[in-house]
Amino acid sequence: MICELCGAEVPRTKNVAIESTVLSVCASCAKFGDEVMTPVVRRTSMPPVIAQRLEARSRRLTPRDVYAQGGEEELADDFSARIRRAREERGWKQADLGAKINEKVSVIAKLESSTITPGDALVRKLERELGIRLKERVQPIAAKKQSASAALTLGDLVKMQGESR
Ligand SMILES: [Zn+2]
Repeated sequence: MICELCGAEVPRTKNVAIESTVLSVCASCAKFGDEVMTPVVRRTSMPPVIAQRLEARSRRLTPRDVYAQGGEEELADDFSARIRRAREERGWKQADLGAKINEKVSVIAKLESSTITPGDALVRKLERELGIRLKERVQPIAAKKQSASAALTLGDLVKMQGESR
């Protein structure tokens, strides 16, 4: 049997309740929860909070793999600041920039307040007119070769929670 907390292969597991979830865990992990003696209907899905955290974590892990396999350009997080800075350096009002790239002033205002994000065509117009780069290639971080699902155990989550306390 496999401990659902640490992933260890053990001859038998105990059912314990940890943060309102019943898990089959090994003897050493059983101390993290309260043992449940009566057979219970196993949850088929994780509680939403844990599922959300694991999902958020897997989202953070996935992009590294994507970029490690060749890299993709992404709209810079501070694209709105870049647009505003470049426009102000030229002494242009939002309306001036709008006129140059044939967009409404409201579009410029929304871009500079991050209310909207520019599509590819608009990115190219802004980059050309302002002489700036709005997209950037994210540098791959020494990518660990591990699948997101294998990396994500409840044991990791317990560790993560422990670190944040
Ligand atoms: Zn265990």
